[in-house]
Amino acid sequence: MQQQIGIAAITMTLGRLGQTAGLIPDHGYAAAEIEAMQVIQQHLEQHAPEAFSNGEARLPRLSALGIRACRHCGCTDAIGCPEGCTWIAEEVCSSCAGADKDART
Ligand SMILES: [Zn+2]
Ligand SMILES: [Zn+2]
Repeated sequence: MQQQIGIAAITMTLGRLGQTAGLIPDHGYAAAEIEAMQVIQQHLEQHAPEAFSNGEARLPRLSALGIRACRHCGCTDAIGCPEGCTWIAEEVCSSCAGADKDART
């Protein structure tokens, strides 16, 4: 199962990269991305539904990849909030400071 997920993840990425780079035929790369994503989705739903959990929000759990993410909005060091943000706690960004307060009271 892990091997098939790995192959599907690579295929999905190649499909996305091909489309982004404008490779042709475009629909071939789009098909690769969509088909591979459906394979991964089926595995996730059957065997790893917890992969979507990240604190109170239902976000992908990036910590499994060693990436710090805000537990409320999912922003990361590389992809911050549109208005800009900083870390105010281990997994809380400044944009979500109010959300964190509300969640604890
Ligand atoms: Zn946030
Ligand atoms: Zn943020």
